[in-house]
Amino acid sequence: MTEHVDVIVVGAGPAGSTAAYRLATDGAKVLIVDRAAFPRDKPCGGGVTMRGAQLLPFAIDPVVERVVERVWVTKGHHGPRRDVDGGGPMVLMTQRRRLDQFLVERAIAAGAEFRDQTRVRGIELAHDGVAVSTDHGTIAAEVMIGADGANGVTRAALGAPEPSYAVALEGNLPRGSAQFDDQRYISDALLEFSTVPGGYGWIFPKGDHCNFGVGGWFTEGPSLREHLVELCEAHGVTMDDLVNLRGHRLPIRRSGTPVAVPRAVLVGDAAGLVDPFSGDGMYEAILSSKIASETIADMLAGRAVDLSSYPVRLGIALGPHVAGAWVAKLMIERAPSVMMGLLRIPRMRRTIGKRMRSPHTDRSPAARRLARTIGHRARTALGPHAA
Ligand SMILES: Cc1cc2nc3c(=O)[nH]c(=O)nc-3n(C[C@H](O)[C@H](O)[C@H](O)COP(=O)(O)OP(=O)(O)OC[C@H]3O[C@@H](n4cnc5c(N)ncnc54)[C@H](O)[C@@H]3O)c2cc1C
Repeated sequence: MTEHVDVIVVGAGPAGSTAAYRLATDGAKVLIVDRAAFPRDKPCGGGVTMRGAQLLPFAIDPVVERVVERVWVTKGHHGPRRDVDGGGPMVLMTQRRRLDQFLVERAIAAGAEFRDQTRVRGIELAHDGVAVSTDHGTIAAEVMIGADGANGVTRAALGAPEPSYAVALEGNLPRGSAQFDDQRYISDALLEFSTVPGGYGWIFPKGDHCNFGVGGWFTEGPSLREHLVELCEAHGVTMDDLVNLRGHRLPIRRSGTPVAVPRAVLVGDAAGLVDPFSGDGMYEAILSSKIASETIADMLAGRAVDLSSYPVRLGIALGPHVAGAWVAKLMIERAPSVMMGLLRIPRMRRTIGKRMRSPHTDRSPAARRLARTIGHRARTALGPHAA
């Protein structure tokens, strides 16, 4: 017998679990399925920017290991350092194994049902609902949320083309285990630009370790290990000192790519919403899942006939942010010295810090159109890597 729910959420990362929490709180019958056995890990720096944390319907304090109040930015491994200080907490440092378990537990407490080790194998979309087949049976739902990340199956089911990809590799340095001044990385993080084409290297502070990582253009995949070796060596660490080395793709949406059909939406990495400049995706996952749940709540309550307003709402909320990210990427790739020069201006550093603390979303339609055009030009100017 086919089981029936209001909403099936495929994937229990930040996008899926926060959507499930919101809809279950609203009274919907929600089922989350994930192919992994939870708690599970996910290659990720684990930094939740304050702009993302502020959108969450609850605090994540129990899984925050460090609070970053200052980000050091350099050009090259040994170039001059500029500090970006947002006048308060900018990034909450977590580990994804702990964060994602915490988020899904909140969804369960709100009334959602969660089945891990349940892989989605097929999806049938109809004008009045969705049938999702898993390796434990078929589930019929009014609506599906595709939150299954970069390597999921929902994107293709909605007919969306492959996004473009960036790629990243990271590992953990246990505190006190190498000739490395980890006391500097208690509430500070480091970003090193001009070291990886199309990206950067980072050091993030965590509770019992520091996270070292590198990310860049997809074509950098075969060289990522070498980039990580160089980052480590620049800080007196060898690759052998790192544990839990992991790499993953970061999906970057092509403009105009579909993210909704009448009864299904894509959120987070499944929609390719990773920030092309920073490589962050959790703010975008949390934001898109908020907009998706509001759109679905409207439909379930009879205030809308389908989910067609989701792409428009998403574009309004995220469009200027994405455009700004492409412009920043063009600048750091083509004119890093100019970018570093701009970072000498205290007001510029404060503005960047503030953007990490809260998004700037209240733009007029004309300003949004202008931002989209400029962002598109910046992406085009970056050439085939960014296409
Ligand atoms: C190395 C690296 C470092 C990063 N660092 C940061 C950072 O510091 N800050 C930041 O904001 N972002 C960072 N990101 C990006 C961030 O990890 C993602 O954007 C974020 O995880 C997206 O969340 P999500 O919920 O959309 O998808 P995910 O977290 O990927 O969750 C998707 C879930 O779907 C499940 N799934 C997949 N297929 C199926 C299926 N067929 N059936 C059922 N379940 C399925 C998976 O098991 C998974 O649990 C980083 C990414 C990488 C690769």
